[in-house]
Amino acid sequence: MEESPSAERKVEISENLEEIRDAVLASRSLNVVARLVAVSKYKPASDIVAAYEAGQRHFGENYVQELSEKAPLVPPDIKWHFIGRLQSNKCKALAAIPNLWAVETIDSGAKALKMNDAWGSAGHASPLNVFIQVNTSEEENKGGVEQHEVLKVARSVRESCASLNLLGLMTIGSVEGSHQQPNPDFLALVRLRDEIKAELGGPELELSMGMSDDFEHALELGATNVRVGSKIFGSRLPKTAAA
Ligand SMILES: *Cc1c(COP(=O)(O)O)cnc(C)c1O
Repeated sequence: MEESPSAERKVEISENLEEIRDAVLASRSLNVVARLVAVSKYKPASDIVAAYEAGQRHFGENYVQELSEKAPLVPPDIKWHFIGRLQSNKCKALAAIPNLWAVETIDSGAKALKMNDAWGSAGHASPLNVFIQVNTSEEENKGGVEQHEVLKVARSVRESCASLNLLGLMTIGSVEGSHQQPNPDFLALVRLRDEIKAELGGPELELSMGMSDDFEHALELGATNVRVGSKIFGSRLPKTAAA
């Protein structure tokens, strides 16, 4: 394990976490408490240890190499979420992380098949949870499956990917959307979830939406998985752009 966090940093992170957790608990609906994913990109392993010691177990990272380097330095019962842009040639490296819990950024049927093969070949005991990332804002350079393709990709994950468990849908959303209430990206994700349920049946899909600035609003609209980084660990300087 890497060096432990300073006493000061431990207090800071645990206080931040407590605040976020209270907000998540406050907006629980139908007795479902959303999952909080602590996004630790660019942050040192000692920050992850501090959050872990404050009880946090789900963490998110955006870069395969950074995740591969940090995962062995922190407790092995952490549940990792990969939330960055997924590249086909990185699926194998991702699948080699023993405690990878979910890939939230499946953005095509082909990528689903790649991840399925990689996870299957790595010989894990249970299927890998995946979210289909949706380009709800229909921006050209935004990652994610186009809205009219989501049903098709969902069907192919369910039918052709035995090593994957389709857990839900995920969106990042546009900056403009995040200034509106209700946020149109979140509404689009809810609508698509309902559409898939109506067409394919099966278990209720989760919704991964909401970050530091809008997770409370996302929870109001039905998020079951929120991804919070800077409100827990502080701002990321100088590189702040989400992948
Ligand atoms: C960085 C990132 C987050 C966390 O963003 P904050 O605004 O720091 O909470 C959440 N989701 C994705 C996909 C990210 O890249």
